[in-house]
Amino acid sequence: MLKDNAAKPAWEPAFKKRFEGLYLENEPMSKHTSIRIGGPARFLVNAASVDDLIDAVKFASQNGIDYFLLGGGSNILVGDYGFHGIVIKNMCVNYIIDDNIISAETGMTLDDLVDVSHHNSLSGLEFAAGIWGTVGGAVCGNAGAFGGSVSDVFHKAVLLDEDNKVVTADKEKLKFRYRHSALKDNRELALSASFKLVKGDKDEIGAKISRHREIRREKHPLDYYSAGSFFKNLKNPRDAGMNVAAGWYLDQVGARERRIGDAGVFEKHANIFVNYGEATAADMVKLGAGLKAEVKEKFSVDLRMEVRPVGDFGEHRELLETIID
Ligand SMILES: Cc1cc2nc3c(=O)[nH]c(=O)nc-3n(C[C@H](O)[C@H](O)[C@H](O)COP(=O)(O)OP(=O)(O)OC[C@H]3O[C@@H](n4cnc5c(N)ncnc54)[C@H](O)[C@@H]3O)c2cc1C
Repeated sequence: MLKDNAAKPAWEPAFKKRFEGLYLENEPMSKHTSIRIGGPARFLVNAASVDDLIDAVKFASQNGIDYFLLGGGSNILVGDYGFHGIVIKNMCVNYIIDDNIISAETGMTLDDLVDVSHHNSLSGLEFAAGIWGTVGGAVCGNAGAFGGSVSDVFHKAVLLDEDNKVVTADKEKLKFRYRHSALKDNRELALSASFKLVKGDKDEIGAKISRHREIRREKHPLDYYSAGSFFKNLKNPRDAGMNVAAGWYLDQVGARERRIGDAGVFEKHANIFVNYGEATAADMVKLGAGLKAEVKEKFSVDLRMEVRPVGDFGEHRELLETIID
């Protein structure tokens, strides 16, 4: 669904020359997102090396082109009209281990990192077993499960800052909180990240990882396309240190029965929205906005999207604004 692709911008020939063999044109983002939704990216650059990734960011920023760094696409909703700039797909997957610290390029999947830690008898990342997406996405959103989160084991990161300079960042700089880091608020990108783990018993680590993966297989919609939790959990009004699951509120308004087109709520978890086949971003936005309004009416609380909206939602932008964070 391209709105107007007739006028080609002046930078395109230079882009095509510089990124020859690395880019795809009008690439459907539905192929690159776990929820299988999203119109075309004008260009998608497959960045298999950190140099290519930095080059693509520099090219975009020097030419005033909108760009977006894509990890595993497991926490985003791309609009039906796609993304009119350059999507840079992070495919950088090298890692090194130094004693009890693993440093990984941020295109590596978090689940692969979990396996590497296990094989090296390093404990601390077991909570992350089975979480979708890349190391970069996990750092950006402080991914977590089973009582653990990335910030618990995060050591340092190498970032590309907003002036496109490569800098080192410690934990303080990333300002981690629940499903959040400073990278969500600025345009800095994580090129690599290191995690401080502790030596442990290989079998025990392996058993914990298997248990977590098994629980996920039972509870998560692995047979359907989704982007994980749609809304953020909320602070408990009676205890600021605790969260109330957004799914609890959604259950009180009967969310699990709801469906708009092929967009629906997962039968086992009211805060996971699934694409049953041909759902559009517009369907998802309508589903979310409708449920948010019902929760607001009943409990006077504001649900806000955890899934990150990306690109052009056309005439549904206004409705989207009512649910984004
Ligand atoms: C079935 C299912 C279950 C899930 N369960 C959980 C769960 O238990 N816990 C949990 O926390 N999440 C969960 N998620 C959500 C998702 O797995 C995480 O949010 C994941 O960390 C997203 O990583 P990604 O690489 O896919 O990020 P993407 O979706 O590609 O991107 C998300 C955001 O991160 C940014 N980003 C990506 N890489 C970088 C980088 N290198 N530097 C800076 N910014 C970057 C992107 O630009 C974007 O803004 C689940 C998702 C699914 C589909």
